[in-house]
Amino acid sequence: MSTAAESVTAPAAPIPFDREGPVLGEAFHTAVAPTPVADPGLVRVNDALARELGIDPAALRSPEGVAILAGNRVPEGAEPRALAYAGHQFGNWVPQLGDGRAILLGEVVDRQGVRRDLQLKGAGPTPFSRGGDGRAPIGPVVREYLGSEFMAALGVPTTRALAAVTTGEPVRRGWAVHPGGVITRVAASHVRVGTFEYFGRRGDVEGVRTLADYVIQRHYPEVAGAEEPYPALFSAVIARTADLIAHWMAAGFIHGVMNTDNLALAGETLDYGPFGFLDTYAADTCYSSIDTGGRYAFDQQPAMARWGLTRLAECLLPLLGEESEARVERAKALLDEFLPRFEATWRALMAERLGLAEVREGDGELLHDLLQAMADGRADYHLTLRGLSDLPDIAGPADAAVVDLFDEPAAITAWLARWRARLAEQGRDEAERQTAMRAVNPKFVLRNHLAQWAVDAATEEGDFTPMDRLLAVLTDPFADHLGEEELARPPRDEQRVQRTFCGT
Ligand code: AMP
Ligand code: MG
Repeated sequence: MSTAAESVTAPAAPIPFDREGPVLGEAFHTAVAPTPVADPGLVRVNDALARELGIDPAALRSPEGVAILAGNRVPEGAEPRALAYAGHQFGNWVPQLGDGRAILLGEVVDRQGVRRDLQLKGAGPTPFSRGGDGRAPIGPVVREYLGSEFMAALGVPTTRALAAVTTGEPVRRGWAVHPGGVITRVAASHVRVGTFEYFGRRGDVEGVRTLADYVIQRHYPEVAGAEEPYPALFSAVIARTADLIAHWMAAGFIHGVMNTDNLALAGETLDYGPFGFLDTYAADTCYSSIDTGGRYAFDQQPAMARWGLTRLAECLLPLLGEESEARVERAKALLDEFLPRFEATWRALMAERLGLAEVREGDGELLHDLLQAMADGRADYHLTLRGLSDLPDIAGPADAAVVDLFDEPAAITAWLARWRARLAEQGRDEAERQTAMRAVNPKFVLRNHLAQWAVDAATEEGDFTPMDRLLAVLTDPFADHLGEEELARPPRDEQRVQRTFCGT
């Protein structure tokens, strides 16, 4: 931290890195600097996030700032490094992954006192690149930027996008050549289940313990004083992960690659690859081009999160008790907390979306029956919920706005009657209920065809105006934004994007 006296004589460091936090030793990372690029070009700086991090957005926009964001200049106070991790990819064990195209610059403490990582993704090769180029095409950079900022606006725990730049260099993927880009990602930390597996699967119990202590200090200080901190840590991670997945399911978000290297211990959405949002409601929606078996389909996400947490349990086992059989029982009992926690959070989030001030018995059925009606009637998930927000307490002609979203009117009409009976039970003022619903059911959603539009314009024309137009509505997705109705619409048949790609 520079003092007031210093800042008069020397320009302040553009990023106030903080090195006072808990540290992990050399086994956990390798020092490596970003590889400079030919011609950095600024795409976007996230002003609000920069300020939240104590960074002057104008400094990031300056030539020096852009050089930092492109990896051409290592800023004062940074300690660039690539983190080691392993992971299960589509169920298969991969002993070494690690940051192959991402370089951690350092940590900053935000205005709320929360320590956060700053990472350049697409910043060049590292010892973990395994033959990859360490680069990112601009398309995935745009997708991640849009995806993470939209999720943040929805209130879903997520990594954030601080900035995006172009590199002025081509990136080759198969036969195609794309313009290169770098995204600056901000995360509570980049510790993943795969980081634990990197040590745990080699039997390095001390490595696991060091990492667990670090995660407690950084993310779960409330368990530090527990009689048995490690089981308490595991329980807390389970709860946070269950809440995260509940948010995904309520948002209609499909992560796409829930490999254990993409499950963050801090409980944030991490690694925006072939992610997508529902349009028409279908529980088994799976967009990812590489997920041919539907392992990470929409409705598989709770089970897949639990699967990943089970891999974490295997690493933590030596810390869960003295005797091996008792440890396994302990781990199983803790894992059994996952589904009930997920369901309770999901029900609470969805009840809010239906305008219910609290969850009562029978609400679960009401929710599931709505989803079933959407599935049978091929209704749009988001328009249905947003449409319900505007409906009056009493049935009438306005109902057509929702009923017409369904192939057949019968099921949804019957459901609306049940919903209204339930609303009547709580005696909440109609206008208040509608306002509350509009604040949790977004009008604007990063639908695949919209993301694709922004990606194509950026990739083919170097045109970032679609990205900017989308960000304007997606960072404030509950507001009306009159004049942008086009961006609130589901895809027409010819616009529908059925496949999403990692783009690595
Ligand atoms: P992901 O699919 O993004 O979760 O990445 C899986 C692994 O592949 C991680 O270890 C990445 O660092 C690595 N990786 C992905 N893309 C590249 C790339 N272009 N160059 C080097 N490593 C990469
Ligand atoms: Mg990953």
